[in-house]
Amino acid sequence: MLISEQKLKKVLHEILQQAGSDEYEAALVSEHLVRANLTGHDSHGAIMLPIYIRNMRAGLLVPGMCAKMVKDDDSIMIFDGQRGYGQRVAAEAMDAAINRCRETGVVLMTLRNAHHIGRVGAYGEQSIAAGLVSLHFVNVIDHPPLVAPFGGRDARFSTNPICIAMPATGETPAVLLDMATSRIARGKAMVAMNKGERMAEGLILDSEGEPTTDPSVMFREPGGALLPFGEHKGYGLATLCELLAGVLTGGGTIQPENKRLGGIVNNMFTFVFDPCRLVEHEWMQHEMDAFISHVKGSPPSVPGESVMVAGEPERKKYAERSLAGIPIEEVTWEEIMRAAEDVGINRSSLELL
Ligand code: NAD
Repeated sequence: MLISEQKLKKVLHEILQQAGSDEYEAALVSEHLVRANLTGHDSHGAIMLPIYIRNMRAGLLVPGMCAKMVKDDDSIMIFDGQRGYGQRVAAEAMDAAINRCRETGVVLMTLRNAHHIGRVGAYGEQSIAAGLVSLHFVNVIDHPPLVAPFGGRDARFSTNPICIAMPATGETPAVLLDMATSRIARGKAMVAMNKGERMAEGLILDSEGEPTTDPSVMFREPGGALLPFGEHKGYGLATLCELLAGVLTGGGTIQPENKRLGGIVNNMFTFVFDPCRLVEHEWMQHEMDAFISHVKGSPPSVPGESVMVAGEPERKKYAERSLAGIPIEEVTWEEIMRAAEDVGINRSSLELL
């Protein structure tokens, strides 16, 4: 089914409010989830809401929590997300880091103990909107590992995303690299499973450590494993996410001494800085325009499909889906409706929104 952005937002907003969020939090979380769908990242969109409600019921996600400042040391800012909605606490911690960065030129901000922060690109977009550059390294804890190390046969860490954001110039749109360090995000396997589709080769191992194209191995016990992107190089980046975001935020890594209660907890290690404190603004813009146009000028390997830059596929998808609507599979919609019923909403009342 296709659903409009406005309708999906209203449905999610209603469920979130009924589940204990105030207007502000429900708006932030529903905006974030729907923007993930609009930009083509269905794995981090509305599909997550039933999981959030389940985690909330289990006490693994706590509505109404803000980003709590743990240490304010000039250009170093340390926050605790208090297991609140990640979309809220990470946005708040980013706002604080951006405001500080206007004075100091650079901020190292850490956030620990946030429930799932969703699409990390959203936080890169906050710095882009402020004309700042940001780098984000994230790890995922509190649940069983999902990704195998290069050379291994079972999962030892998670999909540890990285995001790097560079603001737009007058000519060149912002560059927003936002990616899991696994070949695919786990949610993409969930989307494929819900659609009854197989995955491409080379993405997943089954519980025996053998390659498979069946996405459901990721949702069974014992589970399979996703593979890191870029072989030993992607694995190296995933390891550094674990060390930067897990160790240096104080939030902890996925090593087995740390509790795994079955929630989704993200820790994020972030640099935000003002590029104008490094180089002259006009020169920077010219150099960025000239470089991006040089790269995009490469003859396309598939005739008719031009070379893209990170952030471009999401902009295209956004333009398409904000007009045509957001595709939601039946299984996902049914799960959202069940989550609504679980918090005491009659599904027919959502149809009227
Ligand atoms: P992806 O593979 O779809 O895209 C990764 C990056 O590559 C993006 O920046 C995209 O703009 C760029 N890209 C894609 N196709 C391109 C092309 N043809 N040419 C040039 N650039 C291109 O993304 P993903 O790795 O599947 O991650 C999906 C989302 O999952 C991200 O938003 C990420 O933050 C999120 N995620 C979150 C968590 C979490 O714990 N919160 C964990 C993992 C992933």
